[in-house]
Amino acid sequence: MRISFAAAEVAPYAKVGGLADVAGSLPQALASLGHDVTVYMPYHRSIDAQKFGIPTAGARTHSIPYGAARARIEYPEISRDGVRTVFVRSVRIGRDKVYGYDDDAKRYALFCRAVVEDLVDTPPDVVHAHDWHAALLVPLAARARQLRKAATVFTIHNLAYQGRTSAAVLKLVGLPRARLPIEDRGEANLMARAIAAADIVSTVSERYAEEILTPEFGERLEGLLRKRQADLWGITNGIDTKFFDPAQDPHIAAPYEADDQSGKAIDKAALQKETGLQRDAAAPIFGVIGRLVEQKGVDLLTAVAPWLLEKGGQLVVLGTGDPAYEQKWRDLAAKNKGRLALTLGFDGALAQRIYAGADLFLMPSRFEPCGLGQLISLRYGTIPVVRAVGGLATTVRDVDADPRGNGFSFIKYESAAFSDAIARALHRYKADGEPWRQLRTRAMHEDHSWPAAAKRYVEMYMAAAKARRAA
Ligand code: ADP
Repeated sequence: MRISFAAAEVAPYAKVGGLADVAGSLPQALASLGHDVTVYMPYHRSIDAQKFGIPTAGARTHSIPYGAARARIEYPEISRDGVRTVFVRSVRIGRDKVYGYDDDAKRYALFCRAVVEDLVDTPPDVVHAHDWHAALLVPLAARARQLRKAATVFTIHNLAYQGRTSAAVLKLVGLPRARLPIEDRGEANLMARAIAAADIVSTVSERYAEEILTPEFGERLEGLLRKRQADLWGITNGIDTKFFDPAQDPHIAAPYEADDQSGKAIDKAALQKETGLQRDAAAPIFGVIGRLVEQKGVDLLTAVAPWLLEKGGQLVVLGTGDPAYEQKWRDLAAKNKGRLALTLGFDGALAQRIYAGADLFLMPSRFEPCGLGQLISLRYGTIPVVRAVGGLATTVRDVDADPRGNGFSFIKYESAAFSDAIARALHRYKADGEPWRQLRTRAMHEDHSWPAAAKRYVEMYMAAAKARRAA
């Protein structure tokens, strides 16, 4: 099949979160199954063109109508690991950051319009749009005569970000304004439009696919999603196991693998040294990597941290997010030097040293479409302590309930439940010796690589193609 992806962030070129991991590794897995995949992403200014050998000028240029004006778009591209990546380049789209501007909706609407302009020349079998930034690709493709045979798939990586904007954005790219029932007057909900129009809708774990049909997790779109329930798929993400590999990781002090974990103790000591934690081989290190926002349970984390440190744990936190929480963490770190190491920033290499050097990994999310932190942790033999919600519930099994489990989990979103799970983890960790090593070995042996999930994606594309033919 010829499959065209579109996403705002794609690793390794630009990454803010898990979307980049998926858009940067699922295409390679599809390519190794024999499919022809092209990935479209904006040419963000932060992309290191030299490092990746991306040409600054495009092989093709289009001038496309954009409101009353025209926008000039270039399409430089590269091929890597069997996947073609096309960087959609325009002064109206490219910025330093991937998100965070007042005109994000306009920028991404133009991105979608520009992708369609490039697709009509050689129509793919499947157009696969990811999250609200690429959502308008679905209605735009449906209106392009040359793409009428192309099946459309829309994947929700996070329903909390829907691209709610002014309906004027639709007109800019030539779409009609007719309102969806879910939209307020004058408003466009870009994600809702893709959910309504795509041949197939998917999300990134089985559990989240069920949860989003309920008011608790549906973010006001549960009614619309229930209408599409017959075409809604849940496929749990994989990770790039070549990139996240403790046996080959160039960023860590000592490589290790499931059958010889001796390097992990060296990585732990190196992490303590690097981050200014007390050098103590026996103290359990808890890692936290991610956006410091409500979704990730940052309120539970800050509530439980002092208790965890009192119990003799060490905490390494890497993330950015809500300024109020960043300040709380700064205060906590100042009071707990040598026991709590805080890095406010985005640092992929440090993240890998934390995944390797920590003993346990905390992810008490309020909701979690899939979550990659726990999957990367398992790969590094770092035992996850998570809230059993969304993809965390799909991928982490509590060892106290299941002897073949791989971590610890709790259900109720409250600090007592979270600290209870941590206490159980500490108890097992302190008993140390063989059982803990076995738990780690089991975690490391689990297969969260892409090939199996990629096959499910292919099945889904076939279903989408069938739906398109029927339409
Ligand atoms: P999100 O909801 O942010 O997409 P995921 O768990 O799905 O959460 O994916 C987050 C990805 O981003 C993981 O690969 C994680 O290691 C990485 N990440 C998050 N924050 C940081 C950071 N501050 N520095 C480095 N990597 C980070």
